[in-house]
Order: sequence, then C-alpha cells, then structure tokens
Amino acid sequence: MTTVPFADLHAQYLSIKSEIDAAIATVIRDSAFIRGPHVEKFEREFAQALGIAHCVSCANGTDAIYIALNALCVEPGDEVITSAHSWISTSESVTQAGGKVVFCDTDRDTFTIDPAQIEAKITPRTVGIIPVHLYGQPADMDPIMEIARKHKLWIIEDCAQAHLAKYKGRTVGTFGNAATFSFYPGKNLGAMGDAGAIVTNDARLAEQMSMFARHGGLFKGDHQIEGINSRLDGLQAAILSAKLPHLPAWTRARQQWGAAYDKALAGIKNLIVPPSSQEREHSYHLYVIRHSQRDALAKHLQAAGVQTVVNYPVALPFLPAYRRFEHRAEEFPNAHAHQSTILSLPLFPEMTAAQHAYVVAEIARFD
Ligand SMILES: *Cc1c(COP(=O)(O)O)cnc(C)c1O
Repeated sequence: MTTVPFADLHAQYLSIKSEIDAAIATVIRDSAFIRGPHVEKFEREFAQALGIAHCVSCANGTDAIYIALNALCVEPGDEVITSAHSWISTSESVTQAGGKVVFCDTDRDTFTIDPAQIEAKITPRTVGIIPVHLYGQPADMDPIMEIARKHKLWIIEDCAQAHLAKYKGRTVGTFGNAATFSFYPGKNLGAMGDAGAIVTNDARLAEQMSMFARHGGLFKGDHQIEGINSRLDGLQAAILSAKLPHLPAWTRARQQWGAAYDKALAGIKNLIVPPSSQEREHSYHLYVIRHSQRDALAKHLQAAGVQTVVNYPVALPFLPAYRRFEHRAEEFPNAHAHQSTILSLPLFPEMTAAQHAYVVAEIARFD
C-alpha cells in the first residue's frame, strides 16, 4: 500500500488530458513523426521560455551533453571538470566524446560543484567545466563563470533537473556556452518517452550541434560532417509544447511544497533541509534532505507507505565505472558523506496538502 507516491505522472496527465490528447491526435493526423513543424515549434517555444536565442532538440538529455561536447571539439586527452555528485550522464558523455573526466567535490550544503575547489583541478589540458544544477538547485555560477573567463574554458550547464531555476534572477541555462536539458518523463518538464535539448546564444555552435545530431547536415541529403542520429520526435515535441505553458505554475507549486517542507521540518533533530535563497531559486526537481539515520528513516517511511528515493546512492568517483581512476573517499569528502545521508522526499506539483502533511507527520513520528 502506497499512501504517498514519490511522484505521480498520471495525475499530471489527467490535469491536462484534453490538451495532451489533442496534441497527439494532431501529430498523427499530420503524420509529422520525425522533424517537421511540431519539433520546430517546440524548439522556438522552449528557447523563448528560457530567454535564449537557439534551441536544438535531440533524443534525450544524455545525447544533449554528448552533442554539445562534440560541437565544442573535445579531443582525446582534453580534460573536462565536473561535479562528483550527479547522474552518470554528465560524466559518461565526456568519456564518450573522447575527453577525460575530472571530478570536483561538491559544496556541503547545496550538493552543487564547489567553485573554491575548481582551480586546483585545472591543468594545461583542461578545456571546460560542466556544472550541474543538481536537484533543481542552481550551481554557484558567478565564481564558476569567473574561473572559466580567467582560464579560457567553455561551460556546459547540465540543466536536466533545473528547468526554470534561477541564479540571481537569471534563468539557468543562459550562463554557459551551451546548456543541456532532459525531458525524461519524470523531469520537471517531461515528455511521454525520451527527449532532450541543447540551448545556446551562439548561432555557430547551434548550427554545429544541429548538424552533428542530424547525420552531419542541416537538411536531408546534406552531410557536411559525420554525425549521429539523435532526434526529438513529433509526438514528444507536441506533448512538450502542450505542457510548456503549465511549467511556470508547476514550478511555483514545487517551490510552495518545498517551502512548506522547509518550515515543517525545521527543528527536527538529525535532519537538515536543502538550502534555499532568493539568490538561488531552486526548482525542486527533487527535495533532498540529509539525515544521520537515513536508512532507518527511509525504512520507517516505506513501512508507512511513503515512497522515498536516494539520488544517488554512490557518488560518481566511487562507481565501478570509474574504478580506473582509483579515487579515494578523502578526495571528495562532501560527495562521499552525502552518499549515506541524502534522502529524496515525495514532491510533485499535484501533491495534496493531505499527502504533504502525512509525510511530515511520519518524519516527525520517527524523530
Ligand atoms: C536525467 C539527467 C540527465 C540525462 O537525461 P536523459 O534524458 O535521461 O538522458 C543528465 N544529467 C542529469 C543531471 C540528469 O538528471
């Protein structure tokens, strides 16, 4: 018996069922399954929603990073610095693009890359930085941009979890040379299948990324370079266009539930709520607490019918996939410590006050 699910995608579908159903019917009527007007429309709309010049759609958020890295001409031996704590897409794309991933520890409170530790990781081979706005919390972009300027590095923002999050009033995804998004169904803006995009203000980079994602050319039969096949399909584009106008309200709802957790959980012993501030407007893809008895709390909540998740149980440097680097816990003390304390609580726009109160009550009861 689950009393409070971690997320509820069906509730969101039901709330805009007629719009989604009509969008799907239109694509089928037009047989516009690959490329075509629905894809172009969503690219325009998403760029506009972020306040950026270009959006290049692609098959998923992992491809988005890979495509951006290719367009930025990562070469064998090039080093790319990224956060020790993220979903593996961020780092595996660097390797797939031919580069060498260099991990940097996170900030203890925000779970985002610690700018104070970046410069020590820079070598003559460093070409770029991929900050991740993890859980929807904006990374500390001012010092990161400053470091990039000083050392002539590019920046790709991984915005897969941070649609419409803001840093000092500016939407994330508009700081770096490029920014990547995922529209995986569970993301804050989710398709009904895989989908992704890259955004940029750089017209040349946008063209390069479009070509690479579409077999190396801008139109059928054109192959300027060898590329890959990474396309957003028409059905997903139309679904995303139907959902996009609701994203600001859904983000506000997430922020309200986040603030309500902050308030209700303040003062509970052994529990630390995620930091929030005016300067760093969290979009709460995930509401991640730290708790000194995380496993026992998760078990208690599960028995009470509250679904929780650990995002992610093993930090990137310590995954078997990176055994070759032989990283030690002391190199990434924060990311390492978080492995055993983080817990993501249920939070989704359609959550009810009763569900929210139940989660809070069960956490208080554990205490
Ligand atoms: C979801 C996610 C991705 C990858 O997105 P997919 O669409 O699943 O390929 C990349 N980075 C982060 C931080 C993510 O959460």
